[in-house]
Amino acid sequence: MRKPIIAGNWKMNSTIAEALALVKDLKKDLPSNLKSEVIVSPPYLTLHEVANELTGSSIRVAGQDLFWEEKGAFTGAVSGLMLKDAGADAVIIGHSECREYFHEKDETVNKKIHAALHCKLRAILCVGETLEEREAGQLLPVVERQVTKGLKGLTDADMQNIIIAYEPVWAIGTGKTATGEQAENAHLMIRSIVERQFNQDVADKVRILYGGSVKPNNAAELLAKPNIDGALVGGASLKANDFIEIIKSC
Ligand code: PEP
Repeated sequence: MRKPIIAGNWKMNSTIAEALALVKDLKKDLPSNLKSEVIVSPPYLTLHEVANELTGSSIRVAGQDLFWEEKGAFTGAVSGLMLKDAGADAVIIGHSECREYFHEKDETVNKKIHAALHCKLRAILCVGETLEEREAGQLLPVVERQVTKGLKGLTDADMQNIIIAYEPVWAIGTGKTATGEQAENAHLMIRSIVERQFNQDVADKVRILYGGSVKPNNAAELLAKPNIDGALVGGASLKANDFIEIIKSC
């Protein structure tokens, strides 16, 4: 049985005061009979304060990216060691915005995944196709390349600390959501890619989240699908009420 995860990616939003106000609201309204794991991913500069505020709560904290070295002359970079020290328990890697704006490649995604695991952080590997790729019938090769290269060199045991997020790029921040059926098909496809790369046990256990304009009004349909093990939520995770509604639909 895979425990669902609802993760909020705050992206480059929130000052320290805003971040603390948001987590205080989340803590206040979080259902007591929580059926899912809840993770928030605040910007680096607020992460430590957010993690402190969440001490003793069941909400976990994730970084939004990391650099693969632990320390050294890498101006502007943040390492897994630093994220762990600041209170993170997971980290998002390979988000489509990093692939697009910071020219992230599958090889660097893979190095970051190894670095995250080395620092005892769970890694949330993001994969997904652009609209052009989908329309050109490239969904399978694109996602297969991202999964296979992203997870290269991992052991079955490492896979216990990997979460995959299927995020079709055309659905991120656009208000266009994949239908439940489109998302379920993609998740099934990803599970079989993982099975080919590892084995059936690993594939059965890995949690695959859907991301792309998840809102309170579409979360239930998506989360009801058997291969959708939760959601990675961008915009709607910045509003405590919306995020709580999504958590409740799980
Ligand atoms: C995301 O950034 O991971 C995301 C899914 O964003 P949104 O929910 O805003 O589409």
